[in-house]
Amino acid sequence: MKKDTKLVHFNHYIDDIHNPNSVPIYQTATFSQITADAQGSYDYSRSGNPTRTILEKHLAQLENAKFAFAFTSGMAAISAITRLLKTGDHIIASIDVYGGTHRLFNQILSKQGIKVDWVDARDIECVSNSITSKTRLIWVETPSNPLQQIIDIRRLSKLTRSKGILLAVDNSLLSSWLQQPLSLRADIVIQSATKHLSGHSDLTGGVVAVNNSGLAESLAFIQNAEGTGLAPFECWLLLRGVQTLGIRLERQQKNATILSEFLSRHPLTKGIYYPGLSSHPGYEIHKQQAAGPGTIISFETGSIELSKHIVEATQLFSISVSFGNVKSLISLPSSMSHASSSKITSHLPADLIRLSIGIEDVTDLISDLEQAFTIANEKIKQKEGNSYAS
Ligand SMILES: *Cc1c(COP(=O)(O)O)cnc(C)c1O
Repeated sequence: MKKDTKLVHFNHYIDDIHNPNSVPIYQTATFSQITADAQGSYDYSRSGNPTRTILEKHLAQLENAKFAFAFTSGMAAISAITRLLKTGDHIIASIDVYGGTHRLFNQILSKQGIKVDWVDARDIECVSNSITSKTRLIWVETPSNPLQQIIDIRRLSKLTRSKGILLAVDNSLLSSWLQQPLSLRADIVIQSATKHLSGHSDLTGGVVAVNNSGLAESLAFIQNAEGTGLAPFECWLLLRGVQTLGIRLERQQKNATILSEFLSRHPLTKGIYYPGLSSHPGYEIHKQQAAGPGTIISFETGSIELSKHIVEATQLFSISVSFGNVKSLISLPSSMSHASSSKITSHLPADLIRLSIGIEDVTDLISDLEQAFTIANEKIKQKEGNSYAS
């Protein structure tokens, strides 16, 4: 079966005698045993639940992985990976990552005696020079959120494999549909399922996928020990959402490509960050490792005030953190999703606007941005006029 077919055709009823066409929600905490010493497939939903099993199998095949685990959020998934480490271990993380990852690594891992060095992982040499005898994990996002930096996963994995270090890739920006880091020899892939996999902003969830059975065993142990497995109802919602992943992304990506060209031509924009543009410095590497440029566009305007006015003047783009929704979203990462990292790294331009492109008619999206640019520009001009007058 091709991947579009597999997306909707999967074994969703395990042993159910009624052959339901939607996965049943096994809304139960416990499962009875037939006898005191004979356990069935399930005993307690923290340890395992049939709805979650179906989801995890489906997510694994989507990622072309042997094993996948569903967590209560992307952050719970990331946190579970850090549990593979112990006090004294060292992580090398790429500087442009999700704000919550900065917060977890800097404010929680530091208390556990796990040291993190932040580097620009586009520069493999720089990563190599930061490796110490304690380095256990290298953490990257590609494309990164929100600057869309592209990291060469194949090249980086050659380095990590030669040193026996784990390479983890946060694949949230593209999802398994557009990029499969395990096939590029990464060891661990995580995704915030809250984003593209769900697609409708109706749940929080996270996924970890691996091929190594030892890693899988450890992750299953951590998921059960810490009680971070995704609950049955959320598993069901995610299973429903993920079935349209292919057609959603196709449309969103088509819209994003058109909008990236519109923004490139617009006189009020400065740097455009979108790996689908041939002017993007990571364009060639991205093309080799991903099946498409994705649905997120970031750009600068050269003025924080102008950016703020633009964000506030859009009608169809709601001002919102997150991305991957069927509806378009707009945000100012340095004061929203990445507020926890801009304090620490200050690498994000404060005027940076991030767009998450939805499935709307692209001509409506262009008109909306056009009118927002006009209103925002008038506000700036008015203010300048006033200050000259006074
Ligand atoms: C949102 C996000 C996360 C965190 O996921 P949650 O589901 O919000 O916990 C991690 N990584 C990236 C790249 C994200 O965008």
